Amino acid sequence: MELEINPSPPEVMHIDLNSAFAMTEQQANPLLRGRPVGITNRLNDYAICIAASYEAKACGINLGTRNRDARYRVPGFVMLESDPAKYQYVHRQLKAIFQDYSPTAQMKSIDEGVIDFRKMQGILKGRSLEDIGREIKLRIRQEIGDYMTVNVGIGQNRWMAKLAAGFMKPDGLYTIDSSNLELTYSLLHLTELPYIASRMKVRLNEAGIYTPYEFLHTPEQVLTKQVFRSINGHHWYLKLRGYETDFETGIRTVGRSYVLEHRTADPKELAALWFTSAVKIARRLGRNNLAARGLLLYLRYKEPPYGWHERKMYHEAVRRGDQLYRRALDLFAQSPPDLEVTAMAMTAYAVEPYRAHQLQLYDDQGPRQERLEDAINKLNDRYGELAVVPAGAWASRNPMKDKIPFGTIRYFD
Ligand SMILES: [Mg+2]
Repeated sequence: MELEINPSPPEVMHIDLNSAFAMTEQQANPLLRGRPVGITNRLNDYAICIAASYEAKACGINLGTRNRDARYRVPGFVMLESDPAKYQYVHRQLKAIFQDYSPTAQMKSIDEGVIDFRKMQGILKGRSLEDIGREIKLRIRQEIGDYMTVNVGIGQNRWMAKLAAGFMKPDGLYTIDSSNLELTYSLLHLTELPYIASRMKVRLNEAGIYTPYEFLHTPEQVLTKQVFRSINGHHWYLKLRGYETDFETGIRTVGRSYVLEHRTADPKELAALWFTSAVKIARRLGRNNLAARGLLLYLRYKEPPYGWHERKMYHEAVRRGDQLYRRALDLFAQSPPDLEVTAMAMTAYAVEPYRAHQLQLYDDQGPRQERLEDAINKLNDRYGELAVVPAGAWASRNPMKDKIPFGTIRYFD
């Protein structure tokens, strides 16, 4: 049976500055307003346009149009050299406004940000997200500049909010929820969905999926086994229905994934590989002073059912290798036995800043283990990754070479 479309209200807002670079230049110089403007990195006749104003886009000027061709085709066209200091100023102003609404608001790039209002109803004080979206538009005009417009998208997860922010440009405001989700999909092409590029479109087409509406109603098994051939199929199945997958939050996940050089079904050997993954993830968490509450394991097999994954969100956040390993073993115990594993991934999610005093409440071994882990990390920083590892990690004959076998599980350093 198909999972129902997420019935909860849309509480994620994505805000995207319209034609950011060109609009910023038009804000700074009123003589450029209403005119076709292009931005390039080094100004000369052959310079290529890297950003264009709406007026320029309406005349067919796109990314990659040459300065000389644009001037020839469009009378009054102005090409400007990019001015990063201006764009950084706008970026900082936008961020400050977004963080007024939630301390967890994040910038996704120089000109777009996300405010997640889930579990933050206190901030809303009974107001609708549309109302707040309109207020943000007004504040941007008042506090950054009267020529500045943004598109606001509201949705049930980050991906859907980003999709909604693409509608009715410029100066748009669009909400996607369970009532109009199917209608919205029926208006779009596959490549208009965020993160679906032409290569992925080909793979979807090969599975008989030609529209976002058909994508929505494709069985999870088909997405997981045929189209994405990884846990990403599961993520898309959830994402398209408005559920958060935790995996678009950038810094909030830390993962390792490996393709095994020697396939194995030996639980001891697999446990050793989980151990190494846990140690590496712990090291990254420690280095960034983070801890994680959620843990996800993924295994790929050569034979049916081809893939398995399990995840769990725990009450307390942890950051040590031994803690992550213990959690991993609990999840791993639920996997089907005796299947040869070809690839595996461990992802720590729901990552948050580490607070030492909080951990000690739950774990009396905490302080000693923390100091040990810090010492090991220092040795490894000096002598190379995995110079010092707990003995369990050596039980495997598989060299742990990092690879990225399944798409978008994020890494960070
Ligand atoms: Mg933009």
